[in-house]
Amino acid sequence: MSDIARNIITLREEIPANVRIVAVSKLKSADDILKAYNAGQKIFGENRVQELVRKYNSLPRDIEWHFIGHLQSNKVRQIASFVNMIHSVDSFRLLQVIDREAAKAGRIIDCLLQFYIATEETKYGFSLSEVLEMLESEDFQKLKNIRICGVMGMASFIDDDDQIRREFMYLSECFRRLKDEFFSGDDAFKELSMGMSGDYKIALEEGSTIVRLGSTIFGSRYQG
Ligand SMILES: *Cc1c(COP(=O)(O)O)cnc(C)c1O
Repeated sequence: MSDIARNIITLREEIPANVRIVAVSKLKSADDILKAYNAGQKIFGENRVQELVRKYNSLPRDIEWHFIGHLQSNKVRQIASFVNMIHSVDSFRLLQVIDREAAKAGRIIDCLLQFYIATEETKYGFSLSEVLEMLESEDFQKLKNIRICGVMGMASFIDDDDQIRREFMYLSECFRRLKDEFFSGDDAFKELSMGMSGDYKIALEEGSTIVRLGSTIFGSRYQG
């Protein structure tokens, strides 16, 4: 059995069955993806449009593709016909473009609102007040081809578990608040996408429903 297959099986035993695992396959070959696929992994995450389109076209059609990176509005069209979930919606303008391209493709696209929760300034995402303002706006009500399924966030890349936990707790609180105030009757709003290879155990303790794992599955992403 390959290391990749073994990693998938070990993670599936360790992570609760109601939590979905997105195998983050950026920079990984089709061969490596197929090893994970053949071990039962069906959800993969990519952060570059061109790479995602190429992989979508050459890999099995029952793979569920999630987009997890910063998405430029002018590239949405290339993935609108097939992407299963966009985790990284970080502006209202982007959401409007996704809605428009989804309508053209005759689809409703599942989206997560990315929150800025880290201390690093390099990361993307909404603040809570920006999200509240957007959800209250009339323009938001006009969007019919997107479905908001929850929130996503990336904790700081630091060696301080308490700080990481505080960031995840904050995201979890934001999720609760949006659920109560805007989505209480909406069963689709249920996802808390948080946790990567270095911090998914903390994320699970704080209520994560989707973990995004790259190196834990495929090994370091900068090697073959
Ligand atoms: C690369 C990436 C991951 C996975 O990172 P690992 O540390 O390799 O698990 C998860 N989420 C996002 C948004 C990423 O860009």
